Amino acid sequence: MITISGKTVCAGVAFGPVFVFSREESTIKRRHIESSEEEIARFEKAREKAIEELGMLYDKAIAEVGEANAMIFQIHQMMLEDLDYIESIKNIITDQLINAETAVGQTCDNFVQMFRAMDDAYMRERSADVKDVSERLIKILSGKDKGGIVSDEPVIIVADDLAPSETVQFDKEKILAFVTEGGSTSSHTSILARMMNIPAIIGAKGALDNDFNGKQAIIDGFTGTMYIDPDEETITKMTAKKKEVEEQNKLLQQLKGKESVTKDGHHIELCANIGNVLDIGSVLKNDAEGIGLFRSEFLYLESNDYPSEDVQFGAYKEVLSKMINKRVIIRTLDIGADKQVDYFNMPKEENPAMGIRAIRICLQRPDVFKTQLRALYRASVFGKLAIMFPMIASEWEVLKVLEIIDEVKAELDSEGIAYSKNIELGCMIETPAAAVTSDILSKHLDFFSIGTNDLTQYTLAADRQNPDIGEFCDTHHVAILRLINMVVQNAHKNGTWVGICGELGADLELTETFLAIGVDELSVTPSAILPIRKKVIETDVSEIKDKVLSKYLM
Ligand code: PEP
Ligand code: MG
Repeated sequence: MITISGKTVCAGVAFGPVFVFSREESTIKRRHIESSEEEIARFEKAREKAIEELGMLYDKAIAEVGEANAMIFQIHQMMLEDLDYIESIKNIITDQLINAETAVGQTCDNFVQMFRAMDDAYMRERSADVKDVSERLIKILSGKDKGGIVSDEPVIIVADDLAPSETVQFDKEKILAFVTEGGSTSSHTSILARMMNIPAIIGAKGALDNDFNGKQAIIDGFTGTMYIDPDEETITKMTAKKKEVEEQNKLLQQLKGKESVTKDGHHIELCANIGNVLDIGSVLKNDAEGIGLFRSEFLYLESNDYPSEDVQFGAYKEVLSKMINKRVIIRTLDIGADKQVDYFNMPKEENPAMGIRAIRICLQRPDVFKTQLRALYRASVFGKLAIMFPMIASEWEVLKVLEIIDEVKAELDSEGIAYSKNIELGCMIETPAAAVTSDILSKHLDFFSIGTNDLTQYTLAADRQNPDIGEFCDTHHVAILRLINMVVQNAHKNGTWVGICGELGADLELTETFLAIGVDELSVTPSAILPIRKKVIETDVSEIKDKVLSKYLM
């Protein structure tokens, strides 16, 4: 048995085979060929394989996400039958005597440009599909189509580190646990692991070894330990632990439908964080009182091009309708820093966490921002929508955002498009500047949501992505708790309510503190809702208030 230790990101126990994840190279190597006939035959074979793969994906998608969403794979199949597309590839092979991969790449670029230049929004969107289809062909041609998870059975994924865009592409049904050598606890990959409620360990040095591929392993997400080829004693111990967790979960189920109220009558709203429409299942299963953070940037991360107004409208409408009049806070896109999206073509920055990200992109590119706002306002009639803005640092940014919203509303009015008149507007408190000026900001907004992941990194000058920052990134630092207290007091004076949607909101050691401070809402990963509700129900604020507050605030 080999034992590897790391840091826990999401608790739980998993048993299964290891799958060592290797990243695919996407660069195409241009190669001169001797026979165009042979190369065309190679291309045809790859095309057939791609059509077959898409057929399989279509069948799987119909079962998992319904016919409307599965359609995309049929559209991709049709593209591979398109005579202009096929002819262009064959002509390039014959005329230039170059390999099929390069010919597909060139054809893809030409078609993408052509689609992007079209007036019709639907046709413009098809450029992303041409890219997707061409990438599939290139991977098959270059033998790199074995990326992703190739196993049919669920596996424990071991990787050096995973980008959010890679994590979202995994088939969730096939993941038992994540283990990475790099990573940090508040990185977005860790957040996604918690969202999926999958045991996860980071900083597991030595785990990324191809020899472990296919070997049986056990992940103890409580202690951050990975056992490869576990011995009998470990198997027995971990089987008992797994059973215990299942029993505790059963007990928590009894809290469903109960109010999140303390013994002395303080109510705190317990909401869920999501990144995707598909997460709603676990939001409802865990009895969330609403959605406190929908990270809308995942719509952009999952796409090969800017998601259109209609695509976004569809997603927001679905979330709002499924939450049946429970409040849904959708955060406008928070691209940048570790959430990079190629098609935004952002210039390389020395220090992207402090660069052009989130609201800064939106204010510099109002066209992108307005598309999202239009989609949000159009969807608002389907439920109880609230909108919030990430990375605010100054009052003028809020005022500018409100001005753009007025423009969007005027446009919709002139087009006769309906929208709700009761949309609450708020901002994230993620920068020390926003926290310190929360008295000023609260005059313009209905609510705040404290993003403790970024607020901690900016307050303590401790990079949330750096796995070695260790003790220097103390999430319970008195500075953070004082800022949270200051924000709540400032906001309440102006009738603005305050939630916490950063990872700290789920920290059971601080639930009493948040209740004592008077936080109105906690938005956490869905699986954390019932454990927090248990803690809330067991607390008497009048008993703990002085003790808790004096610890941090005096
Ligand atoms: C935060 O910073 O705490 C937050 C909730 O936003 P994100 O983690 O998406 O940056
Ligand atoms: Mg943030």
